[in-house]
Amino acid sequence: MHGSFTLINLLAGMVALSVACATEPPGGHPAADPIKTPPIVVEGAASTTTPGAPETVGTPDPEVARGGRAAMERLVALTEQASPRASASEQEQVAAEYIQAELEALGYETRIEPFKVRAVATGGLFLRTKGTTIGEIEVFPILLTAEGSATGSVADVSAGLKEDVAGQELKGKIALIKRGGITFQEKVDNVAQAGAVAAVVYNNEPGPFRGTLRYESAIPAVSVSMEEGIALRNLEYAENVEVALNVKYSAGSENLVAVKPGGDKGERIVVLGAHYDTVPNVPGANDNGSGIATLLEVASVIANKEYAFTVEIVMFGAEEIGLFGSRYYVKELDDNKRTNTIAMLNFDALGSGKNPGIYGDPELLDVLGQYASTSGIEVEKKNSMAPGTSSDHAPFSEAGIPVVFFLADDFSRIHSPEDTLEFVRPELLGSAVAMTVALLDQLDARAWD
Ligand SMILES: [Zn+2]
Repeated sequence: MHGSFTLINLLAGMVALSVACATEPPGGHPAADPIKTPPIVVEGAASTTTPGAPETVGTPDPEVARGGRAAMERLVALTEQASPRASASEQEQVAAEYIQAELEALGYETRIEPFKVRAVATGGLFLRTKGTTIGEIEVFPILLTAEGSATGSVADVSAGLKEDVAGQELKGKIALIKRGGITFQEKVDNVAQAGAVAAVVYNNEPGPFRGTLRYESAIPAVSVSMEEGIALRNLEYAENVEVALNVKYSAGSENLVAVKPGGDKGERIVVLGAHYDTVPNVPGANDNGSGIATLLEVASVIANKEYAFTVEIVMFGAEEIGLFGSRYYVKELDDNKRTNTIAMLNFDALGSGKNPGIYGDPELLDVLGQYASTSGIEVEKKNSMAPGTSSDHAPFSEAGIPVVFFLADDFSRIHSPEDTLEFVRPELLGSAVAMTVALLDQLDARAWD
């Protein structure tokens, strides 16, 4: 049992996890696998606004001004009644109930889509010999890990590169992988393809870390500290020693869905989505109270309109910890519904800055641009998103659905206690409401095949 004493001794002195976030090490690989998903930071979009000093650009379109006032009232109420709204928390649940009541007051029927978000390792990683547990170490599930339990002997695969894995017999084994060089996703995919039943990634600097995958892995994937990783590596040569782990999803969140049935093309769907969670302990007025308030106001404006297509209004939970709500929604789409979803419009952190911004499908952006120019809305078309940043449109886009992301250009206060109402500009909300309604009207006027 070479190595196991070292390991068990290490347990006593194990440091508490203080690392909030870990990506691949600096220097090597481009910013892969950030633990959190800052919703939107747009490349080169430095704020040009003075905090608290609203810009006035000519006379606002009356519809923009009206929508802005109405959305701002909704935002004030949401912020007072349901913030903060930390992902997958009781606060988030309170917010969902508040928003559900708002949608029902507008005459919508709503449904709740619950899903699981947070993986926990039940009891850590157990070391066993001949069925007897001889030690246990703390592990941290990597975000988006598969659920499941695995038992096997340890196989050291170095950094888990394709060439590290090539020729290794990993069937039924637990792959031990050193952090660094390539993304966690690539490491875990490589060993899973080679037959490993679980992946344990150990740190390449002292202490533990947390990582995230890009999409759900095929096998359970966890991280351990460098010290424990080295100790585990020695177990590769220990006879009759196995390790066992069990990862399951515990904490829950939910999407809130309101459906506005369509007319003669009711099988076609336009999804309007915004996330209602915040990072912990922030008011979240811009991120993403602004998106929720805007979407509620859109829901109000279109409540009595008739469209040929169905509109699904989706308030996503648990965006901030990895787009869980939107990923779940897209995962649950069957082929028929996915191919019939003609557009997804996402509203996230659109309330601070100088001008409204849009990003996404060029054809839809053109429609919006034309409307904006006739309405005096100075909208900025964004060509790219900053690397490592994302929001709820991303899973839809990956599924081949045309998307539009409504945003703005000042993200300097999101995820901070300064993300307060005073930095949200009603005109930006009003512009997004007006552009959205115009786009829905345009889509409705199209000839349908
Ligand atoms: Zn956001």
